[in-house]
Amino acid sequence: LKNIVRFIFISHDNRTSKEIRIPKVLIYVLSVLSVFLLLASIIVLYDYVSLLKSTGSSYRLSAENRELKEQIKIYKIKTQQINKRLEKIEIFRDKLKNIFGIPTKEETSNNDSKLQEELYNSYVNRYKKLNIPLVNDSILLQTIIDIDIHFLKNESLSNNLFLDFNLIDNKMLDDQRFASSTPSVAPASGIITSQYGPRISPYFGVPKMHEGLDIGAGIGTNVIATADGTVSEAENSTGFGKVVKIDHGYGIETLYAHNSQLLVNKGQVVQRGTLIAKSGNTGWSTGPHVHYEIRVNGIAIDPQYYILNDDIL
Ligand SMILES: [Zn+2]
Repeated sequence: LKNIVRFIFISHDNRTSKEIRIPKVLIYVLSVLSVFLLLASIIVLYDYVSLLKSTGSSYRLSAENRELKEQIKIYKIKTQQINKRLEKIEIFRDKLKNIFGIPTKEETSNNDSKLQEELYNSYVNRYKKLNIPLVNDSILLQTIIDIDIHFLKNESLSNNLFLDFNLIDNKMLDDQRFASSTPSVAPASGIITSQYGPRISPYFGVPKMHEGLDIGAGIGTNVIATADGTVSEAENSTGFGKVVKIDHGYGIETLYAHNSQLLVNKGQVVQRGTLIAKSGNTGWSTGPHVHYEIRVNGIAIDPQYYILNDDIL
């Protein structure tokens, strides 16, 4: 009976008594249980208080998060815009290189998807090292990676451009006269109505190589010399109508056709920008425009490579 605790209740007059027997084990269990219950309620209370505290800060955090996401989107758009602008500058650079006879090297384009994968892995590793759970918002991570890619591209593009423009600059300093004798602007403002290249002649209706560039311009639009040179022709011909031809030296010649009025004479020395004619619709022409040709050693080449300004669309 050692493991039993006996409670004996005796009435005031000692006549009756009552006895309750409880095993010791049960007492132990009950006391341990009550300690547990006490501890558990303390923990719950503590949790509840800290939860109350954190809802306030988590609300603030999620607001901050939204704001950051918006900002990241804006950064993405901005880096894309810079990327597009740099690509335009690249085209400009290529034109300049072409003019100055600087060989254009085949540019190795980065494999975007491979780069994406590498960046993704680097982020995963970084989070692992910092012991931060991976951002489960994959759209956000993707956006960040997109920004990274555009940024890296912009970085390498601008580095290349800087080097190339240095090269071009040196070349220009080497031969300023060559630069000023090389066509580099549009002969008139207007819209390109026909590109250089094979086409069906609008005048004859047969396939014919179009050896120049047509710039649609109202009659009387200013036509300028596109580089320094000497007028080698200023006459009224059957096909080209009122036409000016300029010899720039170095084997380069330009031609401006279908004008309504000629403002220079043969033998006259002109500079880039000199007004040489008023545009028109003379000769074999189907509408007012400037037909502009560039010949290098007698061979007609695409004038668009020699137009660096934005006067034509
Ligand atoms: Zn033409």
